[in-house]
Parts: sequence; C-alpha cells; structure tokens
Amino acid sequence: MPDELREMIDAVKAYIELEKESGMTEFLSGDVIAKPVLPDERPSGGLDALRKEVMKCSSCDLAKTRLNVVFGSGNPHASLMFVGEAPGRDEDIQGLPFVGRAGQLLTKIIEAMGLKREDVYIANILKCRPPNNRPPLPAEVLACSENVRAQIEMIQPKVICTLGKFASQTLLKTETPISALRGNFYEYEGIKVMPTFHPAYLLRNPDDKKLVWSDMKKIKAVLGSNDK
Ligand code: URA
Repeated sequence: MPDELREMIDAVKAYIELEKESGMTEFLSGDVIAKPVLPDERPSGGLDALRKEVMKCSSCDLAKTRLNVVFGSGNPHASLMFVGEAPGRDEDIQGLPFVGRAGQLLTKIIEAMGLKREDVYIANILKCRPPNNRPPLPAEVLACSENVRAQIEMIQPKVICTLGKFASQTLLKTETPISALRGNFYEYEGIKVMPTFHPAYLLRNPDDKKLVWSDMKKIKAVLGSNDK
C-alpha cells in the first residue's frame, strides 16, 4: 500500500478512535486527513544554536538531578506548537518531550487532528525533570522561562496549545483556573494561545476528552487545511 494512503488511513483511524473515546457523536467537518508532507528545506537556524546552549544549561539545581535536558522536538517551522509543564521520568530518560503515557495520548490527539507529531513542535516550560515529578519551583521557572520564549519566537507558530494548568498559567501570566481558561483563545506576543487540559489529567478524567477535542477543533479552524 502506498505510504500516503497508509498515512491517511492511520489519521482517520486515530480520529475515529478519539471521537469514540470522547463520547462525541458529532464529526469534525473539514479536512482531517494529513496532507502529504514535503521535506522542509528551510534551515532551523537559531533553534539549533539555542538547543546547543540549553543542553549544557546549569542555571538551576535541576541540572544536578536530570539525566537529560529535554529541549523540545518537532517541526521548527510548525504552525502548531504544544507547550507542557516539565519532563517526567520517561522524557528524562529519552531526552524527548511527551513520550510516556500522557505523551502517547497527546500523539493520538495530534493524529486525530489529521497531523503527525513531526508536523507540530512540542516543548515544555521547564527543560529538566523536577525530582519525583514535583511541581516546578518559581526559581526554576524563572531560570528556564527565556528558553521557551526564545523557542516560540524562533518557531513563530500560528497557534500555541498550552497543556494543563501550569503551562497555561505560566505562559499567560495568570492565576485563572485551567477549567475557566480552556476553550478560549488568548494571546502571547501576538500569537494565539489555546489552553486545554493536560493529557495526564485526561488519563485520570477520560470524560473530559470531549472538552479537549472541542478545543482542538477550534485550533483546526484557525490553522486551515494547509498548515502543519
Ligand atoms: N508532562 C509534561 O508536561 N511534559 C512532558 O514532556 C511529559 C509529561
């Protein structure tokens, strides 16, 4: 079977599975099937230089306990960027964001949008794992906040989707609860931001998948069918 057809079938399968799990009966109108992705020849320039710097960062004490810096991964020219809280155990081991159970659910959500993980960019507010996944400390956020700001500036996505309370409140500089933030667009340095529930929360509260799915549909509507 040609790769392109296989990709289309996988996207439709992921979409139907997520719809089923979220209890939704309504179907996403418009383009849910991934467009064939052409190799992107544009250089990723400043992002590679930033990665090299961040890989040796020792600005906070997390540098002493981390196994790996988790800089971020994906398309440096992505239209859609996801921002989470901080690496967990699996991410610390692999040096990649969202690769554990929550990450697998995030991948399903991305595929259900008709995209692939490689189409989007995925990063966290903190680049190093807090010991035992404890909440990030204000000093750690302060030490790391320039990194995500610079990533966003270089990638210039059309939409940022913040995952969960911590990433949403940090990026938007607000204390409004995630339950009130989610589902609405805000702005970060001229870029649209859609806060939604964290996939780890969804693993514990599967009934709320339908709310996340409705947030993803709003993002899709802004992105248009040619954006990756
Ligand atoms: N949770 C996050 O916020 N980020 C990850 O990379 C993994 C789990």
